[in-house]
Amino acid sequence: MAITKVWLDESENECTMCGACEAVCDAVFEVPEKMVVKGGVDFAKFEAEIKEAAEGCPVATIAYAVDGADKRANSY
Ligand code: SF4
Repeated sequence: MAITKVWLDESENECTMCGACEAVCDAVFEVPEKMVVKGGVDFAKFEAEIKEAAEGCPVATIAYAVDGADKRANSY
């Protein structure tokens, strides 16, 4: 199971721009205003950090999908 897609999911809540995700993994996340996923990143290299950031996001707006799927794999 490999992470192949990461995105900001505001279907339930809005990003609060707290910066926690960037603090965990600035190779993947930046927060100039709302969180942005950096382009050209090999997510497979940062799986542990992406999961940690997603779990640590206070409003659960970090979504990831695995194995080429479009559906969010992590819970809200
Ligand atoms: S941790 Fe969540 S709320 Fe905070 S900046 Fe990142 S995506 Fe936004």
